[in-house]
Amino acid sequence: MFERWNDVIMVNGIERHVEVRWDEVFERYCRIIDRVGLELTKQEDFSEKINEPCIFCNRSKLAKFDERFGAEHMENEHAFLFPNINPYAKYSSVCAFKKHYIEVGEFSPELIHSNLELAAKYINKVREIDGSIRYASINWNYMMPAGASILHPHTQVVADSIPTTYMKKIIGNEKFWEYIRAEIESERYIGKIGNVELFVPFAPFGFNEVFGFVDEGLEKSLESIAKAMSAILSYYHSLGRNSFNFSMYYSMANEFPLHFRMITRQNMAKYYRNDAMFFERLHFETIIERKPEDIAKEIKEFLI
Ligand SMILES: [Zn+2]
Repeated sequence: MFERWNDVIMVNGIERHVEVRWDEVFERYCRIIDRVGLELTKQEDFSEKINEPCIFCNRSKLAKFDERFGAEHMENEHAFLFPNINPYAKYSSVCAFKKHYIEVGEFSPELIHSNLELAAKYINKVREIDGSIRYASINWNYMMPAGASILHPHTQVVADSIPTTYMKKIIGNEKFWEYIRAEIESERYIGKIGNVELFVPFAPFGFNEVFGFVDEGLEKSLESIAKAMSAILSYYHSLGRNSFNFSMYYSMANEFPLHFRMITRQNMAKYYRNDAMFFERLHFETIIERKPEDIAKEIKEFLI
């Protein structure tokens, strides 16, 4: 399950290390190399970007739902949800936080819970109006280096009758279950928050990745997931990171278990170096600079 190869390469008389790990479930390699500065730690002032006019702060201009949804927008205490004007699938919506700018370290469990709750309400609504929908995901690009086009924090819900490529890999895949059980027993296991088991994957998809495995249904788990996400974001904030991606994968017919993955991306910097290069984009292979086992140890301190 956890196969790895190590190389020591002499460069200018100095020992350099490359560890290659095989991800048996997703059938890809991941490379862990010595620190070369792929992860930006420098922070720049981006107040100019924060102060730009914002479409999410002017709700009358946003797309509206048709009559099947019963309301033009959905709303609760800290979030509001509306159709994505650039849909990624048959059902594609944006769930914005009400506050225009929230720092990485400021996302309380309550704030996140409010957002996830609304996203789950939308998923249930979609399920009710269209029986062909089987898969959904709640996703988050926080800040531009993570792919966000708008700074105002927002998650995105995608619901479809066909799975994403990621989902396709785990549908009916016994190895995935075996893998989760093995990770929970491994040195990369972080701990449990409510019904969410957290670990750092053996062969991560990105920097500082945390994998959250949920052993119950969507609604029942939202509070624990929000607590876990808030703890992970506190850890990211402690590392000085201000950009991240999150995806939570949901199969309505339980074709795979509910779970999420979360990674940091480059910091908000004017001339930043992208953290996805030819290896990630054209070889399906992630390069990381720190051992998942070390990250797992560090993040334990941030569990609530
Ligand atoms: Zn705004």
